Amino acid sequence: MTLSPEQIERQLHRILPTVAKPGRYVGGEYNQITKDWEGAAFRVALAFPDIYDLGMSNLGLMVLYDIINKRPGLLAERVFCPWSDMEDAMRRAGLPLYALESKHALADFDLIGVSLPYESLYTNALALLDLAGLPVRAEARDESMPLVIAGGHATFNPEPVADFIDAFVIGEGEEVILEIVDALCVAKSKGRNRSEQLRALAQIGGVYVPRFYDVAYHADGRVQAVAPNIPGAPVRVVKRIVPILPPPPTRLLAPNIDIVHNRAPIEIMRGCTRGCRFCHAGMVNRPVRERPVEQIIEAVEAIVRATGFEEIGLLSLSSSDYRDVHRLVDEIGARFRDRNLSISLPSLRIETTSAELMDGLADSRRGGFTLAPEAATEHMRSVINKYVPDAEVLETAREIFARGWRTIKLYFMIGHAGETEEDVRAIAELARAVLAQARPFHGKKAQVNVGVSTFVPKPHTPFQWVPLAAREDVEAKQALLRRELHGPGLKLSWNDYDETRLEAFLSRGDRRVGAVIEEAWRRGARFDAWQDCHKPGAWAEAFEAVGLDPGFYLYRQRALDEVFPWDHISPGVKKAYLVEDYLMAQRAETRADCREQCFACGILPEFIPLRRETPVEAWRCPPVSRQRRRTTQGEKELNHE
Ligand code: SF4
Repeated sequence: MTLSPEQIERQLHRILPTVAKPGRYVGGEYNQITKDWEGAAFRVALAFPDIYDLGMSNLGLMVLYDIINKRPGLLAERVFCPWSDMEDAMRRAGLPLYALESKHALADFDLIGVSLPYESLYTNALALLDLAGLPVRAEARDESMPLVIAGGHATFNPEPVADFIDAFVIGEGEEVILEIVDALCVAKSKGRNRSEQLRALAQIGGVYVPRFYDVAYHADGRVQAVAPNIPGAPVRVVKRIVPILPPPPTRLLAPNIDIVHNRAPIEIMRGCTRGCRFCHAGMVNRPVRERPVEQIIEAVEAIVRATGFEEIGLLSLSSSDYRDVHRLVDEIGARFRDRNLSISLPSLRIETTSAELMDGLADSRRGGFTLAPEAATEHMRSVINKYVPDAEVLETAREIFARGWRTIKLYFMIGHAGETEEDVRAIAELARAVLAQARPFHGKKAQVNVGVSTFVPKPHTPFQWVPLAAREDVEAKQALLRRELHGPGLKLSWNDYDETRLEAFLSRGDRRVGAVIEEAWRRGARFDAWQDCHKPGAWAEAFEAVGLDPGFYLYRQRALDEVFPWDHISPGVKKAYLVEDYLMAQRAETRADCREQCFACGILPEFIPLRRETPVEAWRCPPVSRQRRRTTQGEKELNHE
């Protein structure tokens, strides 16, 4: 029997004075939606498996909160992972995890929706279920317990967490979440049991129910197949997309405490077709869909009125590629300048970050200007398909410094196949060259912060066949950069290799890795996304205890026809297209942005019905008729022709 909201409130009053940032645990924010619990036909807990400070900046959670609560009879409330001091206090007090709005225990809800944007949240997801008093393994949860579903970028390879989650939403949730709730309301009203409810979910496009799929392995441990074990479960689960982005949420909650991004987020565009070969988000979020400028301006107006936020974040994977970006920035600037509103426009591409755009953002100048060349030589930028000439990088830097920014953040990645010591050394040289662009404007007062991450070969990308770079190789390159990249105005940061390893085996794992995740969690792994909390030892012991070799997942070059643990999950982009792109990378051949020329990546054939329903301007893929159907080299390779 779970505690009542009143009992939970009483316990909270005793605990909160003893923990850090109690504002994380109380709810009651401006614009919080508290609906009548008894009057609700169906109750959804939206859980973000990290602390309030991060979860409250998650746009996906806000979008679902808005959509579900807008539906009469439905109720959605928020749940975040408590920080370790609060988790300990809750366990000592026997206080179950609860939702912020009504203080109902998580176990009281009909459905728990867990957001999994990245893999290092997996142990927190188990902690969240355990703190709710629910068994972490899906098969151990009985009829009285809520169903647990998950969505987010990480779930494009759902297998490592398949043992803990009843069903996954592959792709975009705006429409499918209501289809799921409706199907469960019907099943509930007909007294259907848990398995029957899950069979109903398996019929919904984009929903993957892992218990209805068996995994077969070859003798050497490679996956042989992931196949349905009930009629009606699709062989391949194709992601969901919303053909036209619905208006963004505007009655945003004003957080109780400072959060990671203290700004109002508006997604101006979804998808990116630049085709960077390492980029998971770019491959799984196709096609490109844009929101009209008018709709965005209206949303800014509504948000300013409803929340009082002083900064708007215009978000997308590549905002300077948004067709009307100049008009958008100018119109927001003109309309809201006297209301002290600043605009941030993260993820700008060097090629399309014009001086004009910088001018439009100059009033909002805060902190540094971010550029992500990712590689420091033109050759490596061709390999990863993020080509831009060196001269253009320097020209853009000069324009930025000329407009008053004193700090530029440069992002690079090391660890790509075929990368040479020269390619790494060039990072230091390019950073120095960028800093030199500031001299005429800021003398010695400028700063270049260089962030160097380690490449992780992600599922559903052209690089999914390559191994992770070895520790000694990566650490030698990091040491070279520490030697080469220092001095006034230069600052270097890099990724810890243990974190890279974790991300790699969690994103490339198969269903057997689930046991490792549970073992690591039982050995104390939590908050793995936080450098000072990540426990590599617990993970090493977990692999040993389970008898799996992490190297099998990390360091093997894959054959082009190897079956991946995620091959039964389709992002719409064909595997043959990824093979072709991978082979082009080996020849350092670039591929243009497909808004200029379609390469038949597979999105259109997959979503033709939706394409036909949408007005042309909303969707940047060309009409089907202009699709050049051709036999790609990739298909030849895969079909062994
Ligand atoms: S269908 Fe063509 S235009 Fe659309 S995302 Fe794929 S390659 Fe690009």
